[in-house]
Amino acid sequence: MNDIELLQEAARLAVEYVAGADARPATPTAAEVDALTAFDEPLPEAPTDPADALRLLNDVAGPATMVTTGPNYYGFVNGATYPVALGAAFLVNAWDQNAALPVMSPAAAKLHDVASAWLLDVLGLPEHSDVGFVTGATVANASCLAAGRDELLARAGWDSKSGGLFGAPPITVIVGQNVHSTLRKSLGLIGLGSDRVVMVPTDDQGRMIASELPADLSGPILVCAQAGEVNTGAFDPFDEIADWLAATTDNGWLHVDGAFGLWALADPTRSQLVAGLDRSDSWATDGHKWLNVTYDCGIAIVAREGALHRTFSSVAGYLPPEDGFEAMHHTPQSSQRARQVEVWAVLRSLGRSGVAQLVQQTSVAAQLIGARLSDAGFDVLNDIVINQVLVRYGSAERTGRLLEEIQRDGRIWCGATQWRGETAMRVSVSSWKTTPADATRAVEVIMECADRLA
Ligand SMILES: *Cc1c(COP(=O)(O)O)cnc(C)c1O
Repeated sequence: MNDIELLQEAARLAVEYVAGADARPATPTAAEVDALTAFDEPLPEAPTDPADALRLLNDVAGPATMVTTGPNYYGFVNGATYPVALGAAFLVNAWDQNAALPVMSPAAAKLHDVASAWLLDVLGLPEHSDVGFVTGATVANASCLAAGRDELLARAGWDSKSGGLFGAPPITVIVGQNVHSTLRKSLGLIGLGSDRVVMVPTDDQGRMIASELPADLSGPILVCAQAGEVNTGAFDPFDEIADWLAATTDNGWLHVDGAFGLWALADPTRSQLVAGLDRSDSWATDGHKWLNVTYDCGIAIVAREGALHRTFSSVAGYLPPEDGFEAMHHTPQSSQRARQVEVWAVLRSLGRSGVAQLVQQTSVAAQLIGARLSDAGFDVLNDIVINQVLVRYGSAERTGRLLEEIQRDGRIWCGATQWRGETAMRVSVSSWKTTPADATRAVEVIMECADRLA
């Protein structure tokens, strides 16, 4: 096989995988997973046939994948992949562009500008915001929070970029009780401390209770709110939080973790749910969850012009003078993949109404699943406001056994979570492929598994 034949073969195998995904169960069989031991071989001492490496990937690793790109995977909040996103990824990888600087890739730079503008447009966020494409929401949160940290400290007369945090004026960091675990990791990463936070109590949906925001605070305050609680999909009361912050300090920053929930902004029928969300200083979201692009794609959006640049710019003798938007000076990484190309491709093909439709169709499927399970005697624990369904089947213990049975069955996949300290089952509809018919079938699988338990 020559180089070109090798690539044609890889493309053929990739397309064959995608074509077969809908008909496959969500989970590989135990035998398919066991077969991964084929990779337990010593490092070859000398070159081997590259076609052989691809064959091994296709024959052994492919069958042992979780079929997240089909309609039957409801685990975590893992999205699938639109064909146009995968196709764009093929091209981006073929181009081998380093998107760090416009001088390294005019194409990536142009698509950054267009994708960023379209994103802000479809989400209704301030059009002057800076947008950075990073690896995921964890890093997007960290990037936004680092920019917020540096802005708050600059206003307090401290240059944290050069001086670090030792000796800096303290920042009060506020999170809700239901903050995502990775947001606290992001806080730790940027030196603010994962546990050095003021925890605001939350209601039965996991929303911050605004009246419980602390009184008598002063000085720099960084509030981390949430659009889309990871179990319930609930949205914090953004207007009340923004009002509280403005009344409490003249040195505040409001950040929103909207890893998946931020996309609700694109759906005009959910304007009440997202009220006030656009009043924040920064927002983090994922492309690889609800927008259904490939891994790894997170998006950091900062309304305050220049804040990302202050935090992430770097200086070296060989760097050219600034020229347009320079990704390496607005994100933690320097060299980077042109993640914006897939985001552009999805927005270009879905259009404004298509993104709204994606939010609606997955949310409708979630509602259908919740209603059917409720009819069947399950306890639906959340108000299904977007794509998340949180349920229990009798006791937490019985719910755990049901989840084991569903995962053993393998036709669909959904997982356990802890809700108010006890096991619950979370069904997340994040794949663009999941139709109402698929959702109905998922409920049937869950019911069959429940019957088998009895
Ligand atoms: C998934 C998620 C994250 C982390 O996102 P990654 O893309 O996995 O880094 C953060 N916050 C919330 C609410 C999430 O759902």
